[in-house]
Amino acid sequence: MAKYNYITKECLFCNGTDAATHPVLYKKNFRDEDLNAEVFSARRTTEHFHYEMVKCQKTGLIFSRQILDDESLNQLYKASLVTFGEQTEFIKRDYWNPISKYVKSWTTKKALDIGCSNGFFLEVLKDNGYDEVYGCEPSTEAKEIARKDIQSNFHTGFYGPGLYPANYFDLITCFQTLDHLSDPLGMLKNMYENTKPGGHAYLIMHNTKALQAKVFGEKSPIIDVEHIYLFNKENLPELCKKAGYKVVSVFDLKNGYPYSYWVRMAPLPFKGFWRGLFKGLGMYNKTLSISAGNMGIILEK
Ligand SMILES: [Zn+2]
Repeated sequence: MAKYNYITKECLFCNGTDAATHPVLYKKNFRDEDLNAEVFSARRTTEHFHYEMVKCQKTGLIFSRQILDDESLNQLYKASLVTFGEQTEFIKRDYWNPISKYVKSWTTKKALDIGCSNGFFLEVLKDNGYDEVYGCEPSTEAKEIARKDIQSNFHTGFYGPGLYPANYFDLITCFQTLDHLSDPLGMLKNMYENTKPGGHAYLIMHNTKALQAKVFGEKSPIIDVEHIYLFNKENLPELCKKAGYKVVSVFDLKNGYPYSYWVRMAPLPFKGFWRGLFKGLGMYNKTLSISAGNMGIILEK
């Protein structure tokens, strides 16, 4: 069995992690032997493993206090699987919608997607006027399955300092990644460095104040061992400003998926009942658009 090392994380806004101001929200619920690359693959069926999670009483930041060190995490992510599959077409449309109206007035030469998975959003960018699209993704199988015309600037590995020149990209996107990082502010600062003056960034991640997160609590899919820092619509802009960005827009992301997908992913009991109900009503393959607990932010340098 692999042996993992742990490190201690601190609040991104307060100095240190005083237990009185950052009390335990949920206790750790797994052992090291429960961990494997499958647990660290996107959109798997959820296991709900999570570290001990604490909550900052001042900013609402929810974070994992004791996490695996970078080496252990990197091992797990490199071996992780790209598991988007059938939902990709819906995700492409849902992620593009919020910036489509802005992009009309933006320069669309170079774009980068951080944590680009199989490059699905690089396809969207390329198809919407970006001449050069770049992606980085640690999963080793991602590039092989990426569309041929976007493979040339595809970096298999982690995003970090020195990978790209300063003031280089007109747009940097990063989806469902910021809350997986042990140093999200460091990444935002690096993004800012790589963004052209007047250029933009666009991020999507979970919102801890979304209805789903409140209703399902510890059972919510966002309370997960993959998530180190979890944000809301108030503290996320503050972090982005610390990195140097101006905030253009913060919003709830609408997700449109078939009912079949919602039934599979929602932490609902009696899945067979819901499946039967939606099939019976002829709705099973129809699309339902709702705010599924994700938020987006658009930034400018
Ligand atoms: Zn704090």
